[in-house]
Amino acid sequence: MPIKVKSKPDLSPKRIRKFVKPFLVPPGAKVRLPNDFDPASTGGYNREDGAGAQQILQAGITLLADYQARLAAQSTHGVLVILQAMDAAGKDGTIRHVMSGVNPQGVDVSGFKVPSADELAHDYLWRYQAKIPARGRIGIFNRSYYEEVLVVRVHPQLLETQKLPDGAAGQEGARDGIWQRRFREINNYERYLSDNGVRIVKLFLNLSREAQRERFVSRIDQPSKNWKFTASDVRERAFWDAYQAAFSDVLSNTSTKWAPWYVVPADNKWFSRLVAAAAIGNALLDIDPDYPTASSETKASLETARRELEAESRGGKRQGKTKNGKKKAGGR
Ligand code: AMP
Ligand code: MG
Repeated sequence: MPIKVKSKPDLSPKRIRKFVKPFLVPPGAKVRLPNDFDPASTGGYNREDGAGAQQILQAGITLLADYQARLAAQSTHGVLVILQAMDAAGKDGTIRHVMSGVNPQGVDVSGFKVPSADELAHDYLWRYQAKIPARGRIGIFNRSYYEEVLVVRVHPQLLETQKLPDGAAGQEGARDGIWQRRFREINNYERYLSDNGVRIVKLFLNLSREAQRERFVSRIDQPSKNWKFTASDVRERAFWDAYQAAFSDVLSNTSTKWAPWYVVPADNKWFSRLVAAAAIGNALLDIDPDYPTASSETKASLETARRELEAESRGGKRQGKTKNGKKKAGGR
């Protein structure tokens, strides 16, 4: 089914909700990657309609910009967008494209790398909490506390660096307990955030193993992309199946009513950006922020200010005439 190019794409809340639905993980669903979600999916749209997709993406970007301005004016909700993915899935490009129309002053992007000694000396949510967006702002997490149940799970020796007290890292031989506990803690934490005005949108950019291989090769082939590639990227790729299993467990255990996961097909960049924009747009449409209307008192004081400004302008003209000599020159 090709994307229908209308003069104005349909971006009604109903249409957007319908568009993103196939990519949502229903709370409680058991997800098995790679079978349950196709990384190459384009939602039935085809590539030749790239221009149509581009038009919808542009309209979506404009919608995000408009709603971000309202979000800032209303200042009751923050929006937290979490991006998780394998390397080369397009996290950076998604941020760049989807947020391109939004006022940079209203958006904070936080990237999370291997934790520092100071960060490891705190509980594992500490460094993320510091970057939760304020009311009126959009915060984007390029990686997040989900690394604590992804990279740390795939490489459990990282747990040793976290200095957990005896027992808190899970008993020897029953280590799985810690991941279930962290899922519970993360769900509770996200519930707390959402109850307090932080709307959470979680995007898993679902890349296929073959597409990652191709993107790595192109990072090696193109000198301008060399900086994006390190030998450790290939070492991590060797753990592909372990990551797929860890992501499957994350999606199965942490997609909730208050903080749902979207599985964004990531093999085709044009389509993954469209889904990402729609998922964020869906959250903003749901909040439906608006410019606050002035109270009658505020309106009265605005009128007073207007009268003062207008009186100043009349005075200014008189002064101007005297100053530039028009009156003298033109007068008798
Ligand atoms: P990149 O985002 O490609 O620059 O890489 C950042 C690296 O930091 C990735 O290899 C992540 O797996 C790693 N990383 C991020 N968060 C954590 C964490 N909480 N514990 C350990 N490694 C992490
Ligand atoms: Mg990397």
